[in-house]
Amino acid sequence: MTEPLIYDISVPGRCGVSLPDVDVPETALPADLLRENLDLPEVSELQVIRHFVNLSHLNYSIDQGFYPLGSCTMKYNPKLNEDMARLPGMAQLHPLHDDEGAQGALALMYDLQTWLAEIAGFKAVSLAPAAGAQGEFAGILMIRKYHLDRGDTKRTKILIPNSAHGTNPATVTMAGFTAVELPSDENGDVDLEALKAACDDTVAGMMITVPNTLGLFESHIIDVIDTIHGCGGLMYMDGANMNALMGVVKPGELGFDVMHYNLHKTFSTPHGGGGPGSGPVGVNEKLEPYLPGPIVVKLEEGTDDEAPLYGRRMPEKSIGRLKAFQGNFGMHVRAYTYIRSNGDQGIRDITRHAVLNANYIRVKLQDAYHIPYNRYCGHEFVLEGRFEDVPDVHALDISKRLMDYGIHPPTNYFPLIVHEALMIEPTETEDKQTLDEFIDAMKKIAAEAHDNPDLLKTAPHTTPVSRLDEVRAAKQLVLCCRPVEVGV
Ligand SMILES: *Cc1c(COP(=O)(O)O)cnc(C)c1O
Repeated sequence: MTEPLIYDISVPGRCGVSLPDVDVPETALPADLLRENLDLPEVSELQVIRHFVNLSHLNYSIDQGFYPLGSCTMKYNPKLNEDMARLPGMAQLHPLHDDEGAQGALALMYDLQTWLAEIAGFKAVSLAPAAGAQGEFAGILMIRKYHLDRGDTKRTKILIPNSAHGTNPATVTMAGFTAVELPSDENGDVDLEALKAACDDTVAGMMITVPNTLGLFESHIIDVIDTIHGCGGLMYMDGANMNALMGVVKPGELGFDVMHYNLHKTFSTPHGGGGPGSGPVGVNEKLEPYLPGPIVVKLEEGTDDEAPLYGRRMPEKSIGRLKAFQGNFGMHVRAYTYIRSNGDQGIRDITRHAVLNANYIRVKLQDAYHIPYNRYCGHEFVLEGRFEDVPDVHALDISKRLMDYGIHPPTNYFPLIVHEALMIEPTETEDKQTLDEFIDAMKKIAAEAHDNPDLLKTAPHTTPVSRLDEVRAAKQLVLCCRPVEVGV
């Protein structure tokens, strides 16, 4: 069933708004600004509401169903976070308000900085970056400035394992370094011999995701860190996967110098619709002076009768600003609410349940699918979306077929080191029934792949539109709500 386009239901003269009477003197507009015809749909308020509500139902979201999109941590976003972010004192606070009148907001940011630092074992945190990738960029610029400040100018390389997220080499290149790729060994860990061979005084540092994009905790992470530190480099941890570590492992205590957090993944601020994200960075004492700003500081301790006094400052050797004002404050409110409402035991349980859920699915699917690095995983794991005996069926076909079962597909074709990768991340917010339904659907699809592969090749069958030409859809975006002829 396709919805009629809003232009098709337009009736001349129909109106969806009633404007108040004019209470200012009327003046004629310049003739060159006026048009005879404005080609807009003429519809009633009810028609507009139905149009947009129906459109919204064509979208899939975490509030509708299971969303095991690996590396994205599509957990449920508690509505309490939204209520807090919408409080007038939060939502309507002007970014140019003076510090004196914004003490509540500054206190919230200060606490969030402190808690994030505590969770990951760092000395200080800046909330400024607007996304994980921007946090990465901030981290690499800090590493750069640290070396330059010490007169160490020959460090031009950053080492990156081949299981890295695509943003890592992109960040490194944008910051002016050369990204050097390291192979993984047969267990999915960094190849230690290759690391040692690559490590010299031209290496500024290493960027590594823990657990890595295979969902695996680096077995010799301490050796990796020691090797890099041994040749004078610094360690960057991509913290997008903190949902597997929170409350259990502190990257700062492992020896990492800098890390970003994805508030919109681990800390349940919503993402996926292109809205604002937030990617704070945490650092140890080596990099504290270089943090992007502003950061919130306590100017005066509180007393029994007086609240503490907070202010903003730029760290002394700051790499500067990454974003206007304070970063995405609404996301800070949501993450603050999430951490406070969970408490320290709750934060630990999030990680435990996320890891338990991923391992439960992994074990239940290991007979139906090939899992190349099949060992105890973190919050996600990667299986191969292909079958030796039906070479025509690809990961994409399995994903499309999952949509017929009402489930959002996992991440496809990433990480690159697994053939036909399907990366599955259930998150802690799903219950056993949902996990079992998914497992059941995946097993049925594996059977269908053998009995009726066409069913997969032509899927999805139940969605508003069937299989799209994804390359064409991405390259020839049609952003107009009326169909236009596009050239081939
Ligand atoms: C999501 C992700 C990023 C990038 O974060 P954004 O907030 O999307 O910029 C980086 N690394 C890993 C491992 C990720 O999963």
